[in-house]
Amino acid sequence: MRSLNRVQVSRSALVHNFEVCRRLAGGAAIMPLVKADGYGHGMVDCARIFAAQGAAAFGVAEAVEGVRLREAGIAQPILVLAGVIPQTLETIVEANLTPVVVDQAMLPELSRLAGLRQTTLGVHVKLDAGMGRQGVLPADFVALAQAVQTTANLRLDGVMAHFPLADDRQSANSAQVLHTFVETTAALARLTSGKCRLHLANSGGLFYVAGACLDMVRPGIALYGYYPDGAAGRTAAAPPLLQPAMRFSTRVIQVRQVPAGSGLGYSQLFTTIRPSTIAVLPVGYDDGYLRVLSNRAQVIIHGQRAPVVGRISMNLTLVDVTDLDASVQMGDEAVLLGRQGGEEIAADEIAAWMETISYEALCLFGKLNDRELVD
Ligand SMILES: *Cc1c(COP(=O)(O)O)cnc(C)c1O
Repeated sequence: MRSLNRVQVSRSALVHNFEVCRRLAGGAAIMPLVKADGYGHGMVDCARIFAAQGAAAFGVAEAVEGVRLREAGIAQPILVLAGVIPQTLETIVEANLTPVVVDQAMLPELSRLAGLRQTTLGVHVKLDAGMGRQGVLPADFVALAQAVQTTANLRLDGVMAHFPLADDRQSANSAQVLHTFVETTAALARLTSGKCRLHLANSGGLFYVAGACLDMVRPGIALYGYYPDGAAGRTAAAPPLLQPAMRFSTRVIQVRQVPAGSGLGYSQLFTTIRPSTIAVLPVGYDDGYLRVLSNRAQVIIHGQRAPVVGRISMNLTLVDVTDLDASVQMGDEAVLLGRQGGEEIAADEIAAWMETISYEALCLFGKLNDRELVD
């Protein structure tokens, strides 16, 4: 038995988006970011699909996600972007994950653990080229790269940095970060005999920053069908456009006729001004349909938009279907995200109602609801 609230993830959209990214990347390798359960789309399913399309590596936040990917049979390098600390080193080496290091502190223990297993562990270094969040500063970079290269059982396989503003096409910041990254890593040529992969571009870098693809790119949001700068990015984009992969739907559980002047739900946040037909949906903030969407969001029923009225509660949401052409019945499908008939609600639109970005809406819906792969 499954919930009435259902997230569907389109396999063909994921494949299409990978192909769009691959074309933009030129010859650069592709490392899909599958952290946060694949931005809510299902980490293991997405990794399998992208692996079959030729992904060169995967990026996760924590080591535990990498272990899950290994258990699912993913064989590509898996970069652990966050939390390479004494508590995770054993797991990282045991599961043959690739630690991203930001200083020399973890090198001796990584070396010892790799030596015990008689393997050479690939390591990536994170450079802070302007993000200001994590990583080694440019002044200390060469010393760290050298330390990795000269530590037994370790090998410098890559150097990465991250863009803070790649979603802003107008900003000069990305060109500056790219310049810093390329300048700082130039010294590597004599350290690594060219085997070390340089990677900097997230989706914004891949789509908007000239020359940022380097040896490998790290798209996340684009693979799931959204532009890093939201609806504006989609409007400005040249075909082939990215295809949103997630759809979130529920079912009408009751249809009520209420008179004018009826207060609806908690706090009576909405009062009808006419005799109204109200459809009740079994979805709420427990499912990621956040309370901030009260009196703001819209859903699609019978291929037409209907506004959410009143307070969204833990598991119930009301929509005003008075203006819909056809009469709404119990059991009818209501689409919260995605397409129904000729109408579509994108995560960018929901994100605007939520005062956030598509990423957050996708993570919430995908991780809090029953999910299935389709087509
Ligand atoms: C999440 C992440 C990405 C992907 O960013 P998108 O904007 O989703 O493309 C790339 N690199 C790093 C280091 C990340 O943490």
